[in-house]
Amino acid sequence: MKIAIMGAMPEEIAPILERLDDVQEVNYAKNKYYKAKYNNIDVVVAYSKIGKVFSTLTAATMLQIFACDVLLFTGVAGAVNDELKIGDLIVATKLPQHDLDITIFGHPYGYVPEGSVFVETDQDLRALAKLVAKEMDIDIKEGIIATGDQFIASQERKGFIADTFHADALEMEGASVAVVCDALDVPFFILRSISDSADMDASFNFEEFVESSAKISAEFLMKMVDKLAKV
Ligand code: SAH
Repeated sequence: MKIAIMGAMPEEIAPILERLDDVQEVNYAKNKYYKAKYNNIDVVVAYSKIGKVFSTLTAATMLQIFACDVLLFTGVAGAVNDELKIGDLIVATKLPQHDLDITIFGHPYGYVPEGSVFVETDQDLRALAKLVAKEMDIDIKEGIIATGDQFIASQERKGFIADTFHADALEMEGASVAVVCDALDVPFFILRSISDSADMDASFNFEEFVESSAKISAEFLMKMVDKLAKV
């Protein structure tokens, strides 16, 4: 088994790079990919850069060029659901693109012909996350994570995303990674730790908490990789 581990920003994969052995850096399509061993299993680790386009490119590269069999995403997100506080973990059940809009033609938000509003994540990986959370005795939420090419820092836009997609959290890469993995029929998992609440204070909170929240997410993800290695 070869596992793709992906983030969007350097902070999101830094805690993972520290733990790898036999690291080999490969440059492909203007990005860096780290082929390595983690507890004797093959992993490929990369950050895509921010947004749906770069994350699509990286996810497709991980699967098609590096031939990974499963993809795990770790990173930070803005909270939509009030129950989610900074540092909390959320596992995506399904993901829509909140900024995809051809509603003028009578379609729902997030829909294009031959696509679907939501893409669902792999159930077995979600079950594994629950097991890890139980063992760590921590609370981990599951919910809808909405993706768009916008940093959301407004109550109004956040409200739209909550009302339209019933999202619990939002970010800028998950749904595009989901589309790639779904199309290529590769199981995938999207984990985020909250860095802000997508409101007026979002940019300040993000700056303050990006590193600590990214670490919480990365550490949890590596516990899942430990378990996957034993399967
Ligand atoms: N600080 C960066 C920009 C960060 S963009 C810079 O100046 O270079 C925000 C990143 O964190 C994205 O990768 C996104 O997935 C996630 N994110 C966290 N909070 C978010 C929010 N409120 N809205 C959108 N994305 C958010």
